[in-house]
Amino acid sequence: MSDPYDDQNIFARILRGEIPVQAVYEDEYALAFPDIAPKAPVHVLVIPRGRYISHADFSARASDAEITGFTRAVGEVARKLGVEQSGYRLLSNSGPNAGQEVPHYHVHLLAGERLGPIRTS
Ligand code: 5GP
Repeated sequence: MSDPYDDQNIFARILRGEIPVQAVYEDEYALAFPDIAPKAPVHVLVIPRGRYISHADFSARASDAEITGFTRAVGEVARKLGVEQSGYRLLSNSGPNAGQEVPHYHVHLLAGERLGPIRTS
């Protein structure tokens, strides 16, 4: 990923504590909090603490410890939310064609109802 990371993006500001969020889960690798515009009854964003723009960037540059820690954190969020049995969807928009709005890598965790087809348009 050649684009520079934008330290003023909204999730960077959340990580610095400049914008308060109701943390669902946090550890040294990840922070999880509800999406401000939920698309499902449960809609949580999980973000790594490191400065990564997208999944492409994270997968290329993050350390093994960060990748492992983040992956485990996403699983822990699902457990904490109590959606493991009922099921959930993980989704990450990367780049313009996916409509990524916030240039800090994040995974959407959607749950709480039958989510329907992955793609509707
Ligand atoms: P993207 O389109 O980049 O995959 O998703 C960005 C997500 O961030 C959107 O679902 C949007 O609702 C959410 N979002 C944008 N700004 C904020 C914010 O200030 N707080 C929270 N909690 N979510 C935000």
